[in-house]
Amino acid sequence: MKPLIGITTRSQLEGDLSRYTGLATYTRAVDLAGGAPVLIPLALSGDALRALYDRLDGLLFQGGVDVHPKEYGETLEPYCGEIDAIRDATELTLLRWALAENKPTLGICRGIQMLNVAAGGSLYQDIPAQLPGKLHHAHVKGNPYDFHAHTIEIEANSRLARALGVTQIAVNSLHHQALKQIAPGFHVTARAPDGIVEAIEPDDARRPIFAVQFHPEWMVDSDPRMREIFKAFVQTIIGDR
Ligand code: MN
Repeated sequence: MKPLIGITTRSQLEGDLSRYTGLATYTRAVDLAGGAPVLIPLALSGDALRALYDRLDGLLFQGGVDVHPKEYGETLEPYCGEIDAIRDATELTLLRWALAENKPTLGICRGIQMLNVAAGGSLYQDIPAQLPGKLHHAHVKGNPYDFHAHTIEIEANSRLARALGVTQIAVNSLHHQALKQIAPGFHVTARAPDGIVEAIEPDDARRPIFAVQFHPEWMVDSDPRMREIFKAFVQTIIGDR
Protein backbone atom coordinates (compact mmCIF):
# COMPACT_ATOMS: atom_id res chain seq x y z
CA MET A 1 0.00 0.00 0.00
CA LYS A 2 1.35 3.38 -0.96
CA PRO A 3 1.50 5.85 1.92
CA LEU A 4 -1.08 8.66 1.89
CA ILE A 5 0.63 12.07 1.93
CA GLY A 6 -1.62 14.96 2.92
CA ILE A 7 -0.77 18.26 1.26
CA THR A 8 -2.20 21.42 2.77
CA THR A 9 -3.92 23.82 0.39
CA ARG A 10 -4.25 27.58 0.17
CA SER A 11 -7.47 29.53 0.20
CA GLN A 12 -8.43 31.52 -2.85
CA LEU A 13 -11.38 33.88 -2.88
CA GLU A 14 -12.93 34.84 -6.21
CA GLY A 15 -15.93 37.02 -5.53
CA ASP A 16 -18.19 34.88 -3.32
CA LEU A 17 -16.48 31.66 -4.41
CA SER A 18 -13.94 30.18 -2.04
CA ARG A 19 -11.54 27.49 -3.26
CA TYR A 20 -8.79 25.43 -1.64
CA THR A 21 -6.00 24.77 -4.10
CA GLY A 22 -2.61 23.10 -4.36
CA LEU A 23 0.03 23.21 -7.07
CA ALA A 24 0.40 20.18 -9.34
CA THR A 25 4.20 20.20 -8.91
CA TYR A 26 3.81 18.96 -5.31
CA THR A 27 1.33 16.19 -6.07
CA ARG A 28 3.54 15.04 -8.95
CA ALA A 29 6.71 15.04 -6.84
CA VAL A 30 4.98 12.94 -4.16
CA ASP A 31 3.61 10.57 -6.81
CA LEU A 32 7.09 10.18 -8.39
CA ALA A 33 8.50 9.34 -4.95
CA GLY A 34 6.01 6.52 -4.35
CA GLY A 35 3.45 8.34 -2.21
CA ALA A 36 -0.24 8.92 -2.91
CA PRO A 37 -0.97 12.64 -2.54
CA VAL A 38 -4.19 13.88 -0.88
CA LEU A 39 -5.12 17.57 -0.82
CA ILE A 40 -6.33 18.76 2.60
CA PRO A 41 -9.19 21.31 2.57
CA LEU A 42 -9.03 24.27 4.97
CA ALA A 43 -11.58 25.48 7.52
CA LEU A 44 -12.78 21.99 8.44
CA SER A 45 -14.27 21.32 11.87
CA GLY A 46 -11.69 20.03 14.33
CA ASP A 47 -13.18 16.52 14.24
CA ALA A 48 -13.12 16.35 10.44
CA LEU A 49 -9.54 17.62 10.26
CA ARG A 50 -8.49 15.09 12.90
CA ALA A 51 -10.26 12.26 11.00
CA LEU A 52 -8.26 13.17 7.89
CA TYR A 53 -5.02 13.55 9.85
CA ASP A 54 -5.45 10.11 11.45
CA ARG A 55 -5.76 8.44 8.05
CA LEU A 56 -2.75 10.22 6.54
CA ASP A 57 0.68 8.60 6.78
CA GLY A 58 2.59 11.84 6.26
CA LEU A 59 2.11 15.57 5.76
CA LEU A 60 3.62 17.94 3.21
CA PHE A 61 3.39 21.67 3.87
CA GLN A 62 3.68 23.51 0.57
CA GLY A 63 4.77 27.03 -0.29
CA GLY A 64 2.56 30.10 -0.17
CA VAL A 65 1.94 33.47 1.43
CA ASP A 66 3.31 34.73 4.75
CA VAL A 67 2.50 33.39 8.22
CA HIS A 68 0.80 36.02 10.42
CA PRO A 69 3.57 37.37 12.71
CA LYS A 70 1.24 37.14 15.75
CA GLU A 71 1.84 33.38 15.57
CA TYR A 72 5.46 34.07 16.65
CA GLY A 73 4.69 36.96 18.97
CA GLU A 74 5.47 39.87 16.64
CA THR A 75 3.38 42.67 15.21
CA LEU A 76 2.57 42.78 11.50
CA GLU A 77 5.13 45.07 9.82
CA PRO A 78 4.32 46.92 6.57
CA TYR A 79 6.94 44.85 4.71
CA CYS A 80 5.27 41.56 5.66
CA GLY A 81 3.42 40.10 2.67
CA GLU A 82 -0.05 38.70 2.09
CA ILE A 83 -1.60 36.59 4.92
CA ASP A 84 -3.96 33.58 4.73
CA ALA A 85 -5.46 33.29 8.22
CA ILE A 86 -7.63 30.24 7.42
CA ARG A 87 -4.56 28.41 6.19
CA ASP A 88 -2.47 29.51 9.20
CA ALA A 89 -5.05 28.00 11.55
CA THR A 90 -5.31 24.66 9.74
CA GLU A 91 -1.56 24.27 9.29
CA LEU A 92 -0.75 25.17 12.90
CA THR A 93 -3.24 22.58 14.15
CA LEU A 94 -1.82 19.88 11.86
CA LEU A 95 1.78 20.76 12.73
CA ARG A 96 1.15 20.73 16.49
CA TRP A 97 -0.36 17.25 16.18
CA ALA A 98 2.48 16.10 13.93
CA LEU A 99 5.17 17.50 16.26
CA ALA A 100 3.56 15.93 19.32
CA GLU A 101 3.11 12.54 17.65
CA ASN A 102 6.10 12.49 15.26
CA LYS A 103 3.98 12.11 12.14
CA PRO A 104 6.33 12.14 9.11
CA THR A 105 6.39 15.72 7.86
CA LEU A 106 8.12 17.60 5.04
CA GLY A 107 7.98 21.41 4.89
CA ILE A 108 8.79 23.39 1.75
CA CYS A 109 9.25 27.21 1.63
CA ARG A 110 6.30 28.52 3.65
CA GLY A 111 6.31 24.96 5.04
CA ILE A 112 9.74 25.38 6.72
CA GLN A 113 8.59 28.74 8.07
CA MET A 114 5.32 27.31 9.39
CA LEU A 115 7.11 24.32 10.94
CA ASN A 116 9.60 26.62 12.68
CA VAL A 117 6.77 28.81 14.01
CA ALA A 118 4.63 25.85 15.16
CA ALA A 119 7.64 24.42 17.01
CA GLY A 120 8.33 27.76 18.78
CA GLY A 121 10.69 29.64 16.45
CA SER A 122 10.35 32.97 14.64
CA LEU A 123 10.79 34.57 11.20
CA TYR A 124 12.24 37.62 9.51
CA GLN A 125 9.17 39.25 7.96
CA ASP A 126 11.18 40.51 4.98
CA ILE A 127 14.81 39.79 4.08
CA PRO A 128 15.55 43.06 2.19
CA ALA A 129 13.97 45.22 4.93
CA GLN A 130 15.45 43.45 7.96
CA LEU A 131 18.66 41.93 6.59
CA PRO A 132 19.97 44.39 3.99
CA GLY A 133 22.92 43.16 1.92
CA LYS A 134 21.78 39.56 1.65
CA LEU A 135 21.52 37.75 -1.68
CA HIS A 136 18.35 38.10 -3.73
CA HIS A 137 16.15 35.22 -2.48
CA ALA A 138 12.83 36.28 -4.03
CA HIS A 139 11.49 35.09 -7.36
CA VAL A 140 12.64 37.17 -10.32
CA LYS A 141 9.76 37.69 -12.70
CA GLY A 142 10.37 35.88 -15.96
CA ASN A 143 12.86 33.39 -14.52
CA PRO A 144 11.85 29.72 -14.68
CA TYR A 145 10.86 28.26 -11.31
CA ASP A 146 13.83 25.89 -11.37
CA PHE A 147 16.28 28.78 -11.91
CA HIS A 148 19.47 28.30 -9.85
CA ALA A 149 19.47 31.41 -7.66
CA HIS A 150 22.21 30.42 -5.20
CA THR A 151 24.02 27.43 -3.76
CA ILE A 152 23.52 25.92 -0.32
CA GLU A 153 26.05 24.34 2.04
CA ILE A 154 24.58 21.24 3.68
CA GLU A 155 25.66 19.73 6.99
CA ALA A 156 27.40 16.46 6.10
CA ASN A 157 25.61 14.24 8.57
CA SER A 158 22.10 15.45 7.85
CA ARG A 159 19.07 13.75 6.35
CA LEU A 160 19.24 16.25 3.49
CA ALA A 161 22.90 15.49 2.67
CA ARG A 162 22.23 11.75 2.80
CA ALA A 163 19.23 12.14 0.49
CA LEU A 164 21.02 14.35 -2.07
CA GLY A 165 24.41 12.62 -1.80
CA VAL A 166 26.26 15.98 -1.73
CA THR A 167 27.04 18.76 0.76
CA GLN A 168 26.71 21.59 -1.77
CA ILE A 169 24.07 22.05 -4.44
CA ALA A 170 22.53 24.84 -6.53
CA VAL A 171 18.90 25.64 -5.66
CA ASN A 172 16.07 27.87 -6.74
CA SER A 173 14.90 30.61 -4.36
CA LEU A 174 11.39 32.06 -4.20
CA HIS A 175 11.05 33.52 -0.71
CA HIS A 176 11.23 36.98 0.84
CA GLN A 177 11.05 35.77 4.46
CA ALA A 178 13.54 33.62 6.38
CA LEU A 179 13.94 31.73 9.64
CA LYS A 180 15.15 33.92 12.53
CA GLN A 181 15.10 32.11 15.90
CA ILE A 182 15.32 28.37 15.26
CA ALA A 183 12.68 26.41 17.18
CA PRO A 184 13.83 24.43 20.23
CA GLY A 185 14.58 20.84 19.27
CA PHE A 186 15.66 21.78 15.73
CA HIS A 187 18.91 22.92 14.13
CA VAL A 188 20.03 24.36 10.80
CA THR A 189 21.26 21.76 8.29
CA ALA A 190 21.73 24.01 5.24
CA ARG A 191 22.49 27.67 4.60
CA ALA A 192 22.86 29.93 1.58
CA PRO A 193 26.30 31.59 1.17
CA ASP A 194 24.88 34.70 2.93
CA GLY A 195 23.87 32.69 6.01
CA ILE A 196 20.13 32.54 5.27
CA VAL A 197 18.66 29.28 6.61
CA GLU A 198 17.75 26.85 3.83
CA ALA A 199 16.99 23.65 5.81
CA ILE A 200 16.26 22.47 9.36
CA GLU A 201 16.04 19.05 10.98
CA PRO A 202 15.21 17.81 14.49
CA ASP A 203 18.06 17.37 17.00
CA ASP A 204 16.72 13.86 17.57
CA ALA A 205 17.46 12.34 14.14
CA ARG A 206 14.85 9.62 14.70
CA ARG A 207 12.05 12.19 14.41
CA PRO A 208 10.75 11.96 10.81
CA ILE A 209 10.35 15.72 10.36
CA PHE A 210 12.43 17.98 8.11
CA ALA A 211 12.05 21.06 5.96
CA VAL A 212 13.71 23.11 3.23
CA GLN A 213 13.42 26.75 2.15
CA PHE A 214 14.02 26.08 -1.56
CA HIS A 215 11.58 24.29 -3.90
CA PRO A 216 12.81 20.78 -4.83
CA GLU A 217 9.43 19.99 -6.45
CA TRP A 218 10.22 22.50 -9.21
CA MET A 219 13.64 20.91 -9.87
CA VAL A 220 12.72 17.19 -10.11
CA ASP A 221 13.21 17.26 -13.89
CA SER A 222 16.18 19.62 -14.29
CA ASP A 223 18.05 18.02 -11.34
CA PRO A 224 16.69 14.51 -10.63
CA ARG A 225 18.66 14.44 -7.35
CA MET A 226 15.86 16.62 -5.99
CA ARG A 227 13.51 13.61 -6.28
CA GLU A 228 15.56 12.00 -3.52
CA ILE A 229 14.21 14.52 -0.99
CA PHE A 230 10.67 13.27 -1.61
CA LYS A 231 11.87 9.65 -1.66
CA ALA A 232 13.63 10.14 1.69
CA PHE A 233 10.38 11.56 3.07
CA VAL A 234 8.29 8.63 1.78
CA GLN A 235 11.00 6.27 3.07
CA THR A 236 10.59 7.59 6.63
CA ILE A 237 7.05 6.18 6.40
CA ILE A 238 7.72 2.94 4.55
CA GLY A 239 10.82 2.24 6.64
CA ASP A 240 8.60 2.29 9.74
CA ARG A 241 6.43 -0.56 8.53
MN1 MN B 1 17.03 31.15 -0.81
